[in-house]
Order: sequence, then structure tokens, then C-alpha cells
Amino acid sequence: MSLAIGIDVGGTKLLGGVVDDDGRVIARLRRETPREGGSALTALVAELVHQLQEDTREKISKIGLSAAGFVSADRERMLAATNIAGWTGVNLAEELEPLIGARVIVENDANAACWGEYRYGAGRDSRNMIFLILGTGLGGGLITNGELFRGAHGTAAEFGHMRLNASGPLCGCGARGCFEQYCAGPALMRHVEESIAAAPERAFELLRYGDGTLSGLTGKHIAAAAHDGDRIATTAFKITGEWLGLGLASLVVTLDPDLIILGGGVSEAGEILISPARESLRRNASFSGHSLPPLVAASLGNDAGLIGVADLARG
Ligand SMILES: [Zn+2]
Repeated sequence: MSLAIGIDVGGTKLLGGVVDDDGRVIARLRRETPREGGSALTALVAELVHQLQEDTREKISKIGLSAAGFVSADRERMLAATNIAGWTGVNLAEELEPLIGARVIVENDANAACWGEYRYGAGRDSRNMIFLILGTGLGGGLITNGELFRGAHGTAAEFGHMRLNASGPLCGCGARGCFEQYCAGPALMRHVEESIAAAPERAFELLRYGDGTLSGLTGKHIAAAAHDGDRIATTAFKITGEWLGLGLASLVVTLDPDLIILGGGVSEAGEILISPARESLRRNASFSGHSLPPLVAASLGNDAGLIGVADLARG
């Protein structure tokens, strides 16, 4: 059995796990991400690795680290860490080697989750797969001919910043009308607000799912309300799905995948989102009659990133 360690660093929490070669997480740890980031966070990553090695009584030397942001093509350096302080420009492989006593590989979080789903999750039977992760942003990953496609600089498959509307809402990346401005978590909430503005008398029922205020509503509340048939919540998912299908139609015509997987918090709503997205993809796809790939939910949940990056470290 070949064991590997995956550490998935998010803006608020670190998930660490020991993963076997069947993709099972046989030991796991969770910590809060230190707000100061930088070397405190690097030290915490090393501590998690040591703790996981101790817990399994194995000197595991295959170690992968996944984080949001641009990662260099050699999988060593964070070129830009988007939601982690003090990691931009840091060569994490170099900094961690003396602390851990092994070489660490670094990968973008969405790429890592994509690889996890491809190897052990919903994409096991795929060879050419598009992966979208819908959370606070929209991350992407791409498998072509059974390999993770990373592009010339390691930054490929940033589907969230493919532009759907040149005069759309301003995105954190500086451009307008990016895909994530229509389909990620904040966009879902914006669609809710717009639906409420159009029919305020229908808001009362929906607000009861949270603390009674609009700002007290989360994506989970909207999903629960939609499952119960709430019209505003259902409409918000429909609008999100409509945009999702439009963006996917361009990706499908470009990449000809055999499968599309949706992961992340927003996609946990399941068919309430996926069904309108599928319908929109069919309607918006160029070359009608061309066979469209299935659009399915991810299956590894929050573990996809650490499972994927551990497997990438195994090589
Ligand atoms: Zn953008």
C-alpha cells in the first residue's frame, strides 16, 4: 500500500489527510487557517504533516499541498495566493522541505479537486473531463486524455474568469462579466435579491429559513427553501443554472469533454441547480445534434482536494 499525505489549505481552514492508493482517507486533521498566513501557515502545514505521520506511525514522504491561487508550472511556488495572506511569491516546496524532510508538490485547489474526482470520484470512467467548483468563486479543472491540463504557466482552466458579458458585474480579477459573477455563491445571493425586488411579497417565506433578514440567508438556506418548493429560491437556482449552461456551452464546443462534474457548496443543491443547467447547456450548445456530455454532481465533497493532491504527490 502506498500512502500519501494531502493538505488542502483554504481561506478559513486546513484539511489534512493520509490517503491510501484506493483514494480512502485513513487519517484526517482539521485546523483553522492562521489569519496572518505567511510563515505561520507554512509552519502549521509542517505540523499537520508530522501529526499525520505520527497518527499513522508511517514515515510518509509523498506530500501534496493544495491552495487557491496560481501555482508555478513546476508545482513549487505560489505565483499569486488569492485568499491567503503572505504566500504570494513564496516557494512552498523549498520552505517546507527542511521542516518536513521531504519534497512537497503544490497544486491549485480546483485542479487538485478535479484530479481527486477524476481518479476516485464521479469522473472515474472519464478521459476528457471538465470540472467546475462553485463556492465563493468558480474554480475549474480540466482533464484531457487522462491528464491534468495545466497550460504553459500552470494556470490553465480558470473557467471562472471566462467572460460571458463585457458589460457585466465587476469581478475581483478586474474584468467585467466573468463566469463566476453569474454562478458562484455571491451570484446566487444576487439572483435571490433580484427575485425579491421583483416580487417582495414572496420574500416572507424564504426569510424564515434564516434569521429573518436577507443578509442572514446562506446558500444552504436557499437550497433548503428550493427543495421545499419556495418560488424565489427555485428561481434563483434557475437563473444560476441558465448562466451555468451558457458558460458550459462555450467550454463544450471548445473542449469536447465526455463528462462535466459540478462540485462545491452551490452545487450541493443537486438537481435544483443541475437540471436547469443541463437544459440551458442543451439550448445554448452550438452545432445542435452534437452529442452533449452528461452533467453530474461531484462525489467526494470537501475531501476532493486533499485526496487529489495526495494522489498527484504519489506521481
Ligand atoms: Zn474574473
